[in-house]
Amino acid sequence: MTLVDTRTPNPKNFFPGEDHDWELVIGLEVHAQITSQAKLFSGASTEFGNEPNANVSLVDAAMPGMLPVINEECVRQAVRTGLGLNAKINNRSVFDRKNYFYPDLPQGYQISQLYHPIVGEGTITIQVGPDKEGGFETVEIGVERLHLEQDAGKSMHDQHPTMSFVDLNRSGVALMEIVSKPDIRSIDEAKAYVTKLRSIMRYLGTCDGNMDQGSLRADVNVSVRKPGGDFGTRCEIKNVNSIRFMGQAIEYEAKRQIDILEEGGSIDQETRLFDPNKGETRSMRSKEEAHDYRYFPDPDLLPVEFDNAFVEALKTGLPELPDEKRARFMADGLSEYDASILVSDKAVADYFEQVADGRDAKMAANWTINDLLGALNKAGKDIAESPVSAGQLGGIVDLIKADTISGKIAKDLFEIIWNDGGDPAKIVEERGMAQVTDTGAIEAAVDAIIAANPDKVEQAREKPNMIGWFVGQVMKETGGKANPKAVNELLRKKIEA
Ligand code: ADP
Ligand code: MG
Repeated sequence: MTLVDTRTPNPKNFFPGEDHDWELVIGLEVHAQITSQAKLFSGASTEFGNEPNANVSLVDAAMPGMLPVINEECVRQAVRTGLGLNAKINNRSVFDRKNYFYPDLPQGYQISQLYHPIVGEGTITIQVGPDKEGGFETVEIGVERLHLEQDAGKSMHDQHPTMSFVDLNRSGVALMEIVSKPDIRSIDEAKAYVTKLRSIMRYLGTCDGNMDQGSLRADVNVSVRKPGGDFGTRCEIKNVNSIRFMGQAIEYEAKRQIDILEEGGSIDQETRLFDPNKGETRSMRSKEEAHDYRYFPDPDLLPVEFDNAFVEALKTGLPELPDEKRARFMADGLSEYDASILVSDKAVADYFEQVADGRDAKMAANWTINDLLGALNKAGKDIAESPVSAGQLGGIVDLIKADTISGKIAKDLFEIIWNDGGDPAKIVEERGMAQVTDTGAIEAAVDAIIAANPDKVEQAREKPNMIGWFVGQVMKETGGKANPKAVNELLRKKIEA
């Protein structure tokens, strides 16, 4: 791949050094497990968490004479992902054998695509932020390619004192390898890139993105250079399986390389591993020890070929993706900040859309972001486990909008529903939480407070701000249920009189 620099150096991203600043250059190779029932070349199940070797066909175990048969669903998923990355779809692609020996690879080679991948160049637009003002910087990161390949099995070294076992459940599961151009310039951008890629694939339903289950992992290529200078020598950190670890790995690696260069040394191109316990990367193999994979076209498989109609049909069936959804939410009056938060997770976006259905979008967004997401975050819960449904939250919003309850009482109502469930309107009725708009009742409370505090009434005539104290007293007296606007008006009238 020829390296082209598409970015203007941005001092915001620079790493300080002894004599001058440094610029990070990052390129990511993301492995994403395809969401499909069966493996790439066999009918075995892809279900996660089954007994070791429960999902293994004769093909996956590489029994002699077995032949791979391409799973059309995986081809569709790869093309759909390519379309979601605005990438060039190649109507003809070829599977190659990548030869190496490893105990969890019974074939002795991995079927992959080197020279003719199924998807060519594309782009991922990321929003980096929010900054202190709530603003986002929009950056385009180039995608070099997306190709199909098989996953390997798993060696288990902790099951027996003297032997290693192997679990081939993952062996042959379809992966998409998505290779970025070296366009990423900071840790935040790298995190935003993986987050966005994961979000696009989750919207598409092509990869579940569960990094803790290994369905999404990244090889992280890092180099440093003088800002805007020539590309430096990179190191590749293998198999990073969390976004937080990726940030730590890049930070450690950048500092390590800068230290070497500032002492007059040079960087050896090598493959490294990140140790999350130590927060360090360490060398795995150098360029000299690199494998010779002896790639050649797999003679058991024909090239994958399809026509434009196949691609067009898939394009027509694509769901709304995060960028489009975000633009639509902003057109509905949401701020960039709110829209970005809501679309970043499809389940959150779906929830919000139910709350906002037929209601004030801004109000729905505030309640979803500040109250619901805030509470979920505090409780360490996922939106799927939310004790308050979108229907219930919508009900709360309706009650505020209809002036039945005040914003303050609505918070109490939210908490009641969070803990005990129930229908918002019914709870308000049963517990007498409705706002008192009946001026007679409010007037009685106002009169009582005024009569009990003649000195404060005097003060309030001098200092109109004192009214606030009276409002507080009336609210206390009415259990927070008096309509604040009515209370204010009445107090003003009576005190000024
Ligand atoms: P390989 O197949 O040997 O890993 P590629 O040239 O296909 O090599 O690049 C792999 C990844 O490394 C790509 O994501 C690419 O953007 C990235 N990359 C290439 N050069 C650099 C560099 N100098 N610094 C950081 N990343 C780089
Ligand atoms: Mg590589």
